[in-house]
Amino acid sequence: MESRTHTADATPGDHVTVAGWVHEIRDLGGIAFLIVRDGSGKIQVKFEKDERDDDLVETALDVQRESVIKVIGDVEEEDRAPTGVEIVPEEVEVISPADPELPLDPSGKVDAELSTRLDNRTLDLRKEEVKAIFEIRAEMLRSVREAFRSLDCTEINTPKIVATGTEGGTELFPITYFGREAFMNQSPQLFKQLMIGSGLERVFEIGPIFRAEEHNTPRHLNEATSIDFESAFIDESGAMDACEEIVRAAYEGVEANCQKELEALGLAEEFAAPEEEFPRISYEEAIERINATGELDEQLVWGDDLSTEAERALGEEVGQHYFITEWPSEIKPFYIKDNDDDEQLSTGFDLMHPRLELVSGGQREHRYEHLIEGFEQQGLEPEAFEYYTKMFRYGMPPHAGWGLGAERLVMTMLGLDNIREAVIFPRDRQRLSP
Ligand code: ATP
Ligand code: MG
Repeated sequence: MESRTHTADATPGDHVTVAGWVHEIRDLGGIAFLIVRDGSGKIQVKFEKDERDDDLVETALDVQRESVIKVIGDVEEEDRAPTGVEIVPEEVEVISPADPELPLDPSGKVDAELSTRLDNRTLDLRKEEVKAIFEIRAEMLRSVREAFRSLDCTEINTPKIVATGTEGGTELFPITYFGREAFMNQSPQLFKQLMIGSGLERVFEIGPIFRAEEHNTPRHLNEATSIDFESAFIDESGAMDACEEIVRAAYEGVEANCQKELEALGLAEEFAAPEEEFPRISYEEAIERINATGELDEQLVWGDDLSTEAERALGEEVGQHYFITEWPSEIKPFYIKDNDDDEQLSTGFDLMHPRLELVSGGQREHRYEHLIEGFEQQGLEPEAFEYYTKMFRYGMPPHAGWGLGAERLVMTMLGLDNIREAVIFPRDRQRLSP
């Protein structure tokens, strides 16, 4: 196609070719308008019927909304046009007509259920406020990558088809791998740790994780994107520092580069990168504070995991991002190191948004004998993990790291009600296509 001008760049005095979707058709009798939308915005095309060729006017007014068209013409200033400029056309070509019956209305005038939107995601993303979510997601990932690089991390990519799970057997998706049982990976945990024993020292990965979650919830996906970090020669406190830096960088990138998208979402005023340092609250203090809110039917006791209600009760009280540290060892996975002074306590931490958990991390057990013991305590067979455990016999530095759910970050950042809004093609218990 000959060189095309984005609608946002059309300047009075230019002779342009624009191409995009027919957003709106307004026929006012003697004069008619088409609004053409492309990736950069929208522009009005004016048809003064007496002054234009009949064929041209007919082509323009017969077109169905959401058809793809090309318009060649002169850009003129027009105060009454939505963007202050309009095109006076010489040529209009329908490149790809749209059916008159659309499964959902991209102009957003008619609301659609989430399931209809997800079934027709292509049309759904034509809405400015939906597209904005994914522009912001892309900017978040860009900022995060850049921040990792400034922390001297090397980006890695690890296998998603694996022989063993990492977080216990229940959430695994089994697959058949040339006649053998295999699984979709739940987390790059073991692979990123294996890299710590190499010369890389500090790594990150942004990739899919697969979890056969038991229930459909507004904050679980069966295929999610995990932002993972792992570093040699740091403890859990250093890992929390890095975590805070990455989350802050994500917010700052979006704040600096996505004002237009934030506006489309109605968030331009309120959106702000977190300023205060994220408080670090021990698990013990957390359960005391949750119990004191009186929000729960049953009081929490030491060793309980935090339910959704518990997380929300504490989140409301803290009112900003915060870490929960020093979790009981028994509710953290085998690869998390125990506290040196009290083995009931672990070095595991979670980063919480007031609404929900964003990150789990901790210092890792790097001592071979302790690692094997940990497997046995959790009822796992260390033999199945030999590819992993044996590397701890050949020089494994102390290390720590974490995993951050990319969709949960987008969801909390933008105040989305459902995590499915933060992924283009979500996988949940019912949804396998598109
Ligand atoms: P939760 O208790 O909220 O189900 P988790 O503790 O099982 O999460 P982790 O194994 O700690 O999850 O994974 C690290 C991070 O990955 C989580 O804090 C979350 O941000 C993200 N994550 C994990 N599972 C999912 C999922 N099913 N859908 C979306 N994000 C997830
Ligand atoms: Mg967790």
